[in-house]
Amino acid sequence: MLIAGNWKMNKTASETVEFCSALRRRIGGIAEEVDVAVFPPFTSLAAAVRLLATTEIAVGAQNVHWATEGAFTGEISAPMLRELGVYAVIVGHSERRQLFGETDETVVRRAAAALEAGLFVIACVGELEEERDCGDTDAVLRRQVSALTEDDRLVVAYEPCWAIGTGRTATPDQAREAHDVIKSLLDVPVLYGGSVTPGTAEELLAQPGVDGALVGGASLDVDSFAAICESAIRIRS
Ligand code: PEP
Repeated sequence: MLIAGNWKMNKTASETVEFCSALRRRIGGIAEEVDVAVFPPFTSLAAAVRLLATTEIAVGAQNVHWATEGAFTGEISAPMLRELGVYAVIVGHSERRQLFGETDETVVRRAAAALEAGLFVIACVGELEEERDCGDTDAVLRRQVSALTEDDRLVVAYEPCWAIGTGRTATPDQAREAHDVIKSLLDVPVLYGGSVTPGTAEELLAQPGVDGALVGGASLDVDSFAAICESAIRIRS
């Protein structure tokens, strides 16, 4: 079971020091039973790695480029992240797909480069609301997931776009159905993401085929993130 916190464009380096110090105190011990990872912005990665180095809490980045170096202004490569002590990356988040022109092809290239460099990868997939309304969820997931290649270090996050940052979650049935489709194509752990809070986590995490959660807004507060991790432990035990 993995609980991953995607901070998006939140927390400066000094805020990261404050947050990670508190997180270490709050869940330093429980992270041995459930895998926990935080994904700060690039500018806060070094601080997070330093503060969490002596814990079981891993640090990941929110994106990665497919080239190792070169003329790619504004991009960050997998070897750069590795040298910093970063352990994992998120690729294909719906905000990257919708706001920054990310496609299945670029997601696959980013994932492949990260895996090649030894990073763990959380690849995000999920349908838009209109795609669900048209009955296209299954086809969208099949297209996005089939583009990926199975790997021991690959995790898929099912994040219905209409549930991200909206306060609406997939019902347990919707989550289970989507996870089944993904798992029928790839034998990898599948996280659920989309407005997971301490109030919704336990029911979602208890669904068969749900191997953890990718948490956005609720991961920005130590108490709510820790409460979600504690839900995961309860389900595990
Ligand atoms: C996310 O950013 O991956 C996410 C699921 O956000 P939220 O939990 O805020 O919906």
